[in-house]
Amino acid sequence: MIRFRRRRERSRFRDELRIIPKWLVWTCVLLYVVALIVGIAVNLGNHHFGEAMFPGDRSLENYPALSCLALAGVITVVAFGISCLLFMLGYVYRDAKRRGMNPALWTLLVLILSAGYFLIGLIIYLLVREPLPYTCPQCAATVNARFNFCPNCKYNLHPACPQCQREVSDDDKFCPYCATELHHAPKPVAEGAPGNSALS
Ligand SMILES: [Zn+2]
Ligand SMILES: [Zn+2]
Repeated sequence: MIRFRRRRERSRFRDELRIIPKWLVWTCVLLYVVALIVGIAVNLGNHHFGEAMFPGDRSLENYPALSCLALAGVITVVAFGISCLLFMLGYVYRDAKRRGMNPALWTLLVLILSAGYFLIGLIIYLLVREPLPYTCPQCAATVNARFNFCPNCKYNLHPACPQCQREVSDDDKFCPYCATELHHAPKPVAEGAPGNSALS
């Protein structure tokens, strides 16, 4: 299974990030800007009436620009933390969905675990998630990663060595375990990159 996964899932981090819903990203950016504007406006208003945003800190009281900068920093850090959590949940939801797992259940689980154990929920999810469906190299039908044969065209998705019965790759000339010479069925001419098409 490990070998199989390595062969099929060569996904890049940047491609994975694209799974995060666009509307979620823009909502976070919008809320951040709104929080920044409201925060600074309120802070400046308080300065106008003679009280600072940080009442205990007398040093900032007479420097509206400096206290605004400090406030913007606090808002940025908080917004960054909340956004990371939301992006993580958005990723888990979409990723679970495309892998045929229960998206709501996994999102909830990751959310609950991340409340107490930070990234543990995401790590558990990444370890136990189902392999990604991919397209059959022969007929381009979408096949489950656990299938041995394509249900549409009977293509052998996991060719095995006739001598030792262990799984071999499509382009192995010899079995990597027992050195038996392998004679594969003639491959189809039009061959896309399997697995990648399911990502887009
Ligand atoms: Zn097929
Ligand atoms: Zn073999």
